[in-house]
Amino acid sequence: MDKMLEIKNLQKKFGDHEVLKDITAEVDNGQVICVIGPSGSGKSTFLRCLNLLEEPTSGKVIFEGQELTNLKEAQLDVLREKMGMVFQSFNLFPNMTVLDNITLAPIKVKKIEKAKAEATAKELLDRVGLAEKADAYPASLSGGQQQRVAIARALAMNPDLMLFDEPTSALDPEMVGEVLEVMKDLAKSGMTMVVVTHEMGFAKEVADEVWFMDEGYIQEQGTPTEVFDHPTSERAQSFLAKIL
Ligand code: ADP
Ligand code: MG
Repeated sequence: MDKMLEIKNLQKKFGDHEVLKDITAEVDNGQVICVIGPSGSGKSTFLRCLNLLEEPTSGKVIFEGQELTNLKEAQLDVLREKMGMVFQSFNLFPNMTVLDNITLAPIKVKKIEKAKAEATAKELLDRVGLAEKADAYPASLSGGQQQRVAIARALAMNPDLMLFDEPTSALDPEMVGEVLEVMKDLAKSGMTMVVVTHEMGFAKEVADEVWFMDEGYIQEQGTPTEVFDHPTSERAQSFLAKIL
C-alpha cells in the first residue's frame, strides 16, 4: 500500500467560521510534507483533523486504508497510536523524569513490559542526542532538549506517521537547529511526516512536497522548488515574500 493518508473534501467549521473549506490531498508512505501558510489559515486545525483530535465537519480522513471519520472511539484510539504528534509547546509531564515521560504511554497504553520500554526509551534518547538525560526532569532541560524528548516520546509508540505542529517556533533561535537535525534524521530514516513549519531550509532539504494553505484551501502544492521559487498564486507569492 503506497498511500498512508487520504484526505477527501475535508471541511471544518467552528460555528459559522469555516476554517477548512475543501481539502483533498494524499500522503504516500515515506513522504515528508511541509505545510505552510499565514497565521490563522487553519494549519493546526488541519493537523488535528488528521488524527481526529478535531472532528471534521464533513469529508473523509483515511489512514492506512481505514476511514477514521467512520470509526468508533475505541477503534480510533488504536489507529491514533500509530500517529505521533509533536506540538509547539513540548507538553512534557513536569513531575516525571525524561525516561518516565517516554515510557509512560508504551507501558500504560501498549502494555509493554517496563524493562523493555526503558531499553527502547534509552535507544531513542541516544538517537535524539540525549542519552545522558534519562534521569533529568524537564525543567532542567533547555527548550531544544525538551522538544527532542517530546520527539523521542512520540517515537516510543512506534508510529507510522509523525505530525509536527510548528515544532521549532517556540524555541530560542540557537536551539532550532538541533531539533531540525533530529527531524531531518527521522525523515531520512523513511518516516512519513506532515510538518507545519516555516523553516524553509528544512523544507527544501527534506520535503517531498510543500502545501501552501490559505482561505480554507490548499492553494499550492508541489516540490519545494516549485512552491518556493515559482509560486503561481498571488497569495503564495505575497506570503513567501514576507517570510523568505
Ligand atoms: P493556524 O494554525 O494556521 O494559525 P488555526 O488552525 O490555529 O490556524 O486556526 C484557524 C482558525 O480557526 C482561527 O481563526 C482560529 O481562531 C479558529 N479556531 C481554531 N480552533 C478553534 C476552536 N477550537 N474553536 C473556535 N475557533 C477555532
Ligand atoms: Mg497553528
